[in-house]
Amino acid sequence: MRYRAHPGAKTPRRPLGHAVVLGGSVVGLLAARVLSDQFDRVTLIERDALADRPEPRKGVPQGNHLHALLARGRMIAEALLPGLCDALLAAGAMRLNAGRDLAWHQSGGWRVQHDSDLFFLSMSRPLLESTIVKRVRALPNVTILDGVRVIGLRAEANCVTGVRLAKPAGCARGSEIEADLVVDAMGRGSSVPQWLMELGFAAPQTELVGARVSYATWTFRRLDHEPNRRAVVVAGKPARRSGLMFPIEGDRWLVTLPGFFDEPMPQDHNAFLAYARSLAVPDIYETIRNGEPLSEIKRFRFIGSLRRRYERLEHVPEGLIAMGDAVCSFNPVYGQGMTVGAIEAEALSRAVTEARVEGGIGPDFGRRWFQTIRPVVDAAWNGVRLEDFRFPELARERPLRLRPLQWYMERVQQATHRSAFVTDRFYRVMNFLEPPSAFFSPRVMAEVLLPGFGSTHRGTTTAWSHAPVCRAPQASRVG
Ligand SMILES: Cc1cc2nc3c(=O)[nH]c(=O)nc-3n(C[C@H](O)[C@H](O)[C@H](O)COP(=O)(O)OP(=O)(O)OC[C@H]3O[C@@H](n4cnc5c(N)ncnc54)[C@H](O)[C@@H]3O)c2cc1C
Repeated sequence: MRYRAHPGAKTPRRPLGHAVVLGGSVVGLLAARVLSDQFDRVTLIERDALADRPEPRKGVPQGNHLHALLARGRMIAEALLPGLCDALLAAGAMRLNAGRDLAWHQSGGWRVQHDSDLFFLSMSRPLLESTIVKRVRALPNVTILDGVRVIGLRAEANCVTGVRLAKPAGCARGSEIEADLVVDAMGRGSSVPQWLMELGFAAPQTELVGARVSYATWTFRRLDHEPNRRAVVVAGKPARRSGLMFPIEGDRWLVTLPGFFDEPMPQDHNAFLAYARSLAVPDIYETIRNGEPLSEIKRFRFIGSLRRRYERLEHVPEGLIAMGDAVCSFNPVYGQGMTVGAIEAEALSRAVTEARVEGGIGPDFGRRWFQTIRPVVDAAWNGVRLEDFRFPELARERPLRLRPLQWYMERVQQATHRSAFVTDRFYRVMNFLEPPSAFFSPRVMAEVLLPGFGSTHRGTTTAWSHAPVCRAPQASRVG
């Protein structure tokens, strides 16, 4: 029997028997990990072969480009997979202090250098993912079916009851898998909305914030890496060109150059160097101009942030939820996607623990799920809208109410040039450790709006461009 009634409950509940996760990237892997606590069995289905070694793969083309795992995402991943950070460090990831080791130029100045208790790990996306894969593969009740493509959902009445798989090479027919819960973690390109319509269910509406951005990425050998671990961000706004240079495993610099809208992206090595040189400050160029390239230039085009409004559906089919980029894919320059997915994984852990207490997955589990994740998706989505609606190309779509907020946030950016306190708050909000309302605390507002305020709390504004990044930082103490 597929359903059993919770004693005393009016509606039948599904047992926590078999959960199927679609997509084996960062979010699908974390979902499988949390589901394994409460479900008897978890099957994760991924169309690519998932290697235990860090290598790029076709299903995650963005993996070639710089991926920052924000502090909250790292903390959740570590809590779910204890020892993950040590394994990443052992494999060459770099532990960087957000205040001292991150040189960030934006809005015409460098952010104040300061002592911070905020750390982040700098590494390639394939290293992160392959390290997680190894750990999830080792879970006794999780089966990873990789190299297998999902082609549809199975449904009965109002319920999703499983998935359909493409036929493997050499077989005449595909197969089906039954599930008590199906989790869509197939990323932005997920076909679940289309499959829902084919089955007669409503599909979620979509919203696009069309700030197009292109990425060009190149890796270089990192020399003299011992004394210097600095990551550099040159954020282009209000111009359209940015640059990010992070130290990663294998003694490499990973250099990613994003450009908005129709900014011509570098096609060859000379153009890449010229682009780096054209940024607001030349630090990245100075480091790589004589560097030894270790790869080809990789490119990626992103046509805008996309949100699927599952939370607005009147009826969410029973037995189905979605998470990660399958729900909302954010402009990558803000580095939020993996961390939002990790926060959702944490929420999933609570949701299925509650379901266990309630005696199974109830019919409104999906509806409640999309309401549960709404605040974190809203927070990240609103941040994207706030920043991306600055571009004149999107002016006609910009709600009027954003203007004062944009004005204030630009002052916050400028305050990070002089105030360690504001810089620290900025990094905490950016890393999902504090809510955006932290920008409106009396102390932050005073430092932002009264430039003379709080001089005793200043850090050191280093002229980073005069301190070549291959040497130790010159001044890194809090004033
Ligand atoms: C250029 C770029 C840079 C980025 N930088 C950052 C960053 O710095 N920090 C950050 O946090 N985020 C960043 N992101 C966002 C981040 O990559 C995503 O948010 C994150 O990968 C979402 O994970 P996911 O598991 O939801 O989806 P995805 O990573 O897209 O994975 C989906 C998985 O589903 C599989 N799949 C798809 N269809 C099927 C099918 N039919 N059957 C079986 N398997 C299937 C795919 O092969 C893939 O493995 C960046 C994105 C881009 C494009």
